[in-house]
Amino acid sequence: MKKNKSEKIRVRFAPSPTGALHIGGARSALFNYLFAKQNNGEFILRIEDTDRERSELKWVPEIIDELKWLGIEWNEGPDIGGPFGPYKQSQKTDVYKKYLEILLLEKKAYYCNCSAEELEAKRQDQQSRGLAPKYDGKCRDKNHTEGVIRFIIHAQKIKFHDLIRKDVEFDMGLLGDVVIAKNLEQALYHFVVVVDDFEMQISHVIRAEEHLSNTPRQILLQEALGFYTPIYAHLPLMLNADRSKMAKRSGDVALSDYHMKGYLPEAIVNFIVLLGWNPGTEKEIFSLAELVKEFSLEKVQKSGAVFNTQRLDFINGLYIREKSVEALTKLCLPYLPEAAGEWPEKTVHKIIASCQSRLKKLSDITDMTEFFFAEKLSFDKKMLAWKEMGDLDIREALLLCDTSLKELGASKWNAEELEKILVPLAEKFNTKNKGYLLWPLRVALSGREASAGPFELADILGKEKTLQRIQDAIHYGKTK
Ligand code: GLU
Repeated sequence: MKKNKSEKIRVRFAPSPTGALHIGGARSALFNYLFAKQNNGEFILRIEDTDRERSELKWVPEIIDELKWLGIEWNEGPDIGGPFGPYKQSQKTDVYKKYLEILLLEKKAYYCNCSAEELEAKRQDQQSRGLAPKYDGKCRDKNHTEGVIRFIIHAQKIKFHDLIRKDVEFDMGLLGDVVIAKNLEQALYHFVVVVDDFEMQISHVIRAEEHLSNTPRQILLQEALGFYTPIYAHLPLMLNADRSKMAKRSGDVALSDYHMKGYLPEAIVNFIVLLGWNPGTEKEIFSLAELVKEFSLEKVQKSGAVFNTQRLDFINGLYIREKSVEALTKLCLPYLPEAAGEWPEKTVHKIIASCQSRLKKLSDITDMTEFFFAEKLSFDKKMLAWKEMGDLDIREALLLCDTSLKELGASKWNAEELEKILVPLAEKFNTKNKGYLLWPLRVALSGREASAGPFELADILGKEKTLQRIQDAIHYGKTK
């Protein structure tokens, strides 16, 4: 079997800049990157802008930024310069033309000028007779000198070995001659991929399963051009929770959406590597560096991988909890209101720390902390009641808190001291359950069913705001 010249592992991630980087695309990039790294090989980022109508160069910086954010670095590609980057197919017209001319000259391809209407009519006719649509080869022997360029596909079985799917066979008799270029200046997907993989001496093509059925056509093109055939590995489909196929355009599939919602890159990497790769142990949490050592293409399954958002939230929560409060605060800043900028740094750290164990993604911080920064709280008055408490009981509890907290000097105003005062007070207020005092107090300070405890809240809010909120709640209980 012919191999790439250097016999070095060279892989590529080849996104088309027709939209944002899909989470499935990020997985392909990651698997290629890991494979290259662990084999001392090279990972190439190739931006495929062949589809001139659908490609928009504005997507390129986004693709680049998101990959960098994940920590996936390439040896060749945009930003690096050199002979391969920034890599644009739109600038390689001459190279494709050279190979197209060879195929035409050797009569392995031909010009076809069947009109779109004619092809459509034939397609409908075939379908009405229950046949799969297939070009009938009408222009094969016509020696036209212009039109689209079709590559001749003879009826035959094409077999290849895929590292994940194992032995695969396709019946090429079902396919007609495939259009590989609109004209000499505009080569299309199958052709440019084959030429580029050859020119870039790619050893392994690791890509999504959607491309599996493209592979036999690409192998035939490689054979026709005298190129070697790279080793293929097609990654399993990504499925929604209901096992339906995750479509590129449905819901939240852009990596940037996850980025914006506050998923951490470490968590995304850890989550997407498990979409198809089974480490074969109980271990589930992997850093990128560990993955370089432990990942193996052989352990990638061929059945579809279910994208489970709860799992992602869980993994993200783990990584969030590992952060230092200072680092987490920095990450959370974009999700906090501007007013947070006026609060002392130490207090903001405390706010973030009070939420750290409950955060699933950074953007949750907005809602979780909004009450700290609000001028006035608004909440359902009924929430102040612990169990069967009535308005008068609530008022009594809050007045008691008010009186004793007024006594505590500002210098002693911290969670520990507050606890020392409030716990005995709560035990006195109701000998069976401290909730009768602490619940109304916590709700008065937060306006929430769930929040950090009252001592932590009062500490963060400071004496003035704490007493103000208690007063507001007392007043609230009286008038509403
Ligand atoms: N440009 C193709 C895509 O974005 C990938 C081609 C390939 O990996 O062979 O789907």
